Amino acid sequence: MNRDAQQQAGPVAASADLCGFINGAFVTPAEPYRLPVIDPATEQQVGSLLESDARQVDAAVRSARDAFESGVWSRQSTDRRQACMLRVRDLIMRDADALAASECTNTGIPLKQLRQLHIPGAAHHFQFYAEVASQLKGELHQQRSGYQLQVSREPVGVAALISPWNGPVNMSCAKIAAALAFGNSCVLKPSEYTPLAFVRLMEILREAGVPDGVVNMVNGRGAVTGAALASHADIDLVSFTGGSVSGPLVNAAAARNLKRTTMELGGKSANIILESADLERALDGALAGIFMTNGQQCLAGSRILVQRSIAPAFIERFVERTRAIRIGNPFDPRTELGPMAYRAHMERVLAYAEIARAEGATLLFGGQRASQMAEGWYVEPTVVHASSNDLRICQEEVFGPLATFLEFDTLDDAIAIANASDFGLVAYLWTNDLSAVTKATRTLRAGTIWVNTTLVGDPRAPFGGVKQSGSGREGGIGSVEFYTELKSVVIPNGPAPVQRIGLG
Ligand code: NAD
Repeated sequence: MNRDAQQQAGPVAASADLCGFINGAFVTPAEPYRLPVIDPATEQQVGSLLESDARQVDAAVRSARDAFESGVWSRQSTDRRQACMLRVRDLIMRDADALAASECTNTGIPLKQLRQLHIPGAAHHFQFYAEVASQLKGELHQQRSGYQLQVSREPVGVAALISPWNGPVNMSCAKIAAALAFGNSCVLKPSEYTPLAFVRLMEILREAGVPDGVVNMVNGRGAVTGAALASHADIDLVSFTGGSVSGPLVNAAAARNLKRTTMELGGKSANIILESADLERALDGALAGIFMTNGQQCLAGSRILVQRSIAPAFIERFVERTRAIRIGNPFDPRTELGPMAYRAHMERVLAYAEIARAEGATLLFGGQRASQMAEGWYVEPTVVHASSNDLRICQEEVFGPLATFLEFDTLDDAIAIANASDFGLVAYLWTNDLSAVTKATRTLRAGTIWVNTTLVGDPRAPFGGVKQSGSGREGGIGSVEFYTELKSVVIPNGPAPVQRIGLG
């Protein structure tokens, strides 16, 4: 769908007011603080976000709590919940063009990537978690003579779900689907930069028959709306995906009320390329690993570590391919790299090119605003060669299309460099040497390791990081554990003896 078609058929008019969604209805605050919602490819305002204040956050949490206590979803049969979630999946796919177009307008992520990966991924979360919930089982222990012990999993209650701007619908749907599957209610807080597609998503949930109050949404800045949600006493958990600055604040706010959290935070992931690799595939993987989603990916392979023997040729070819990346309107199906999501972020990415220069790294390509684009927050794909892993450009998350190369001699060196980081989200390894695979996968400190592949998301895989990349896991068993509460029930097989006191 092209931009004109989207504007005719899109879910929200160009000047739309975007607000919260509470108890099945869109709710406008009385005296709203307004934030512009901007298309990063045109720098034009496409809507206004009416910020949810603390009172609205409280209303959203109460709505979720009331729905939870009513049992309308939390005690609904798994079959019915599953059927409803499969309807959500179908409706997301029915509206995939419109969702992708809204998301494209607001994030600048190429439409093709949204239509082929993000939106089908969002739909699939509902199918996947519906299936997981249908297989949920408890335990029966009979080892203790005369008793049986049942261990079951129950919904936790009200889930606060806080999501970022670099894959808004997809990442939020992973959280909503996992929360709903086990009977929880939730309050979603999307990023204030990218609220556009959520109007349609809330409408889809309502149309699919998710009962009012089970999914609520508040919109606004992190320090206002997000903080009010994370510190609310009546939520039961916080699932947070965002940066390593705000993550600890959210974690501390939730901890004050003893709420469990998952923290999916930033990364500076190493992409290790050994001379024994299939170098053609490694090159493709290294390019995708840093430049997909406009380079704005937590799991980017942003530190590319190449064995010295192959480094000159590999880096030359990487630069050649980078030079050929098609920058353009994200609605154009040929576009491979769109704009940065917002102006301050573009400035931050450009500043890192300067930082790299200033600290003595070699800028091999890019580092400027893309001059071929008359408007929009476009940054050239950028390649830097660093002499030391200690440089800021190797240690700090840029979160943009900026690849940093480092060279190493042996696998041990590569592992040491990879692990010399405050982050530990993912690591990539390219080699056909089995012993290198077994050694590296054992010793790399990261939540996920991709061997001879890149960006393979599997909802069965628990995802999360170590060190500053976060704590806790979502996905697969990680989500089962996070979104359910264990309950133990002890029942004697007969009239078991009970201690008797108070008989004088
Ligand atoms: P961010 O931390 O600024 O914001 C994320 C969300 O948290 C937003 O909804 C924001 O409004 C909210 N928020 C911010 N401060 C808050 C506070 N004090 N209390 C409550 N909520 C608050 O991050 P971002 O800029 O939106 O996203 C980029 C970051 O997210 C990057 O660091 C990236 O690596 C990370 N990320 C991690 C993963 C992962 O799975 N590990 C996935 C995507 C993005």
